Amino acid sequence: MLWPTTLALLALLGPALAAQEPPRCKAIPNAPSWPPDTAWAALSNAVSGRLLKPPPPAAPCHQGPSYNAQRCSAVRNGWGTADWHIAHPTSVMWQNWANYSCPLEGQRCDGTGYPVYVVAAKTAEDVSAAVRFAGAMNVRMNIKSTGHDFLGRSIQPNSLSIYTQGLKGIRWFDTSFSPKGCARPINGPAVTVGAGSLWSEIYASARAKGNVNVVGGYRGSVSVGGYIGNGGHGELSAKYGMAADMVLEIDLVTPSGEIITANECQNQDYFWAMRGGGASTYGVALTFTLQAVRSGPTAKYTGFVGGWNELAALHRQWTKFAAVGAGGYINGYPARGTGRLSVSVYLGNATSAALRSIVAPVMANLRTLDRGLGNGTEEDGEWVEPASVGRYTDHDTYEDAMGAPNDVEAINAESPGTGQNKLLASWLWGPTELSSPKLVNALRGAFDADTEIMTDAVFGVGTANPPFIRGGGNAVNPAFRTSVLRPASEIHWSGTDARELEKRRAQQARFGASLRSLSPAGGTYASEADPDTPGWQTAFWGANYERLFAIKQKVDPRGVLYCRACVGSELWTDVNGVLCRK
Ligand SMILES: Cc1cc2nc3c(=O)[nH]c(=O)nc-3n(C[C@H](O)[C@H](O)[C@H](O)COP(=O)(O)OP(=O)(O)OC[C@H]3O[C@@H](n4cnc5c(N)ncnc54)[C@H](O)[C@@H]3O)c2cc1C
Repeated sequence: MLWPTTLALLALLGPALAAQEPPRCKAIPNAPSWPPDTAWAALSNAVSGRLLKPPPPAAPCHQGPSYNAQRCSAVRNGWGTADWHIAHPTSVMWQNWANYSCPLEGQRCDGTGYPVYVVAAKTAEDVSAAVRFAGAMNVRMNIKSTGHDFLGRSIQPNSLSIYTQGLKGIRWFDTSFSPKGCARPINGPAVTVGAGSLWSEIYASARAKGNVNVVGGYRGSVSVGGYIGNGGHGELSAKYGMAADMVLEIDLVTPSGEIITANECQNQDYFWAMRGGGASTYGVALTFTLQAVRSGPTAKYTGFVGGWNELAALHRQWTKFAAVGAGGYINGYPARGTGRLSVSVYLGNATSAALRSIVAPVMANLRTLDRGLGNGTEEDGEWVEPASVGRYTDHDTYEDAMGAPNDVEAINAESPGTGQNKLLASWLWGPTELSSPKLVNALRGAFDADTEIMTDAVFGVGTANPPFIRGGGNAVNPAFRTSVLRPASEIHWSGTDARELEKRRAQQARFGASLRSLSPAGGTYASEADPDTPGWQTAFWGANYERLFAIKQKVDPRGVLYCRACVGSELWTDVNGVLCRK
């Protein structure tokens, strides 16, 4: 009964405001510009009661109306896990992005860093009603799926948020997929997934099918919605391209609230921009249909390096792995001096013997640098590393090879800093940067003893020439096409001291400058970067920026969707949570 009334209200408000110049600043609570309770009640009816006004996530542990000892104990148990922050409608993994407005420890819990209202969306219509309401009422809009974002893009103060964990679903197409409005089907296996689906859920489903793989992320706790927005990559990218290169179709809600389908045959601007041009910018994604690939035997190497020279040499030599479509990771604390840095390399449709023939000579060379890797042996003319140093294994499928990191239960193997603080700096390196004599210095300058290196070495023949890309291309940062790997300096710490945050931001700027020093005109991954990277527009999207900016102005002239260091965000200022057009 209430639907027609509500929709009529929203429909009336939309065109009425659209005809006017939008106010310069977004509405804020307790100001005349903020929608009255009757309007929120109308929205609540429109979304079948799924409008929430949640207290801040740690509120049960603070004195006040939400205090509850039992619930506080559950908050404390979950706070250091991704799971807990995913399951809460407004919580994010890194507290530095919540302005410490209700940390677990300390006295303060005003929640001013968090969204005010949330639509816990279950349907496309829920999302549409929320977007139309925010547009019509000039309310700042936020989208939160898992709260993983390293640049704090899934939390915004004074906002109406859309929580997308209710947008799940996995549907496989075994032999072909027919995009809406296209005359011909696209051959090969494919899968349609809800934007809130986690990679762990999709991997588990692929594993149950047994014969398919998808290009996803390393950690199963990441969701599709934010991951694909800036390209997304994993071990299979070196062979097949970025996750965005595998997208066949996107269902979405536009900034004006329309529910549409974008693919190579219709709504092509959305299709191009939403594959790499940024999440929460051109619309709210509902589903993605992804090309899948047949799974085959996969070989895996795991080993170690230690010392700056070995580390630099391994980065330099990675071009050999990239050339055959092998991808992997380098991870640890290089400036600690004591620790070994772990190395993994994956190669699809290959045996461990084939992988060994590529990896072993590289690792053997590194042996002569720094402290050396231990005593390997020559067997039948082949270099064999001892088990303590490196291991080559064969797996039936890629999912098996990935092993623990993507098992559902491994979501609890947490990323350092979860529930505390995290900042990142990163830069893409290709053959030019890797051949620079300044490589060791660039690495040395990017890590202090408490800084973790996470080099995503997952680019190669697949990212250079993506075999499945549709629509003649997408908005993925062109720097990915010429890169081999992307070192990241991951800074994590605990506490809520604002001065410590400033110190860490200075560290982030220093590390970023060192990584960039080999190619200041290069680029990086917009989802794992410093939002204050100088010239972030070209660093994150290269020559695609101009077209992306034009599309943003066309599809969202009123700026319904905004996020930090996202396309078009330079038109706005955010001062203490008040978002205004410049
Ligand atoms: C532990 C960890 C491991 C990671 N591993 C990888 C990896 O292997 N490869 C890789 O490429 N990246 C990786 N990332 C980076 C990850 O892809 C980004 O943090 C990404 O933003 C997470 O997206 P999300 O939807 O899970 O999270 P959220 O933080 O909820 O969302 C991220 C951004 O996407 C927007 N968004 C979310 N859903 C939608 C939607 N439906 N429509 C429109 N916008 C939406 C949000 O508003 C926000 O701007 C990792 C991050 C972490 C923390």
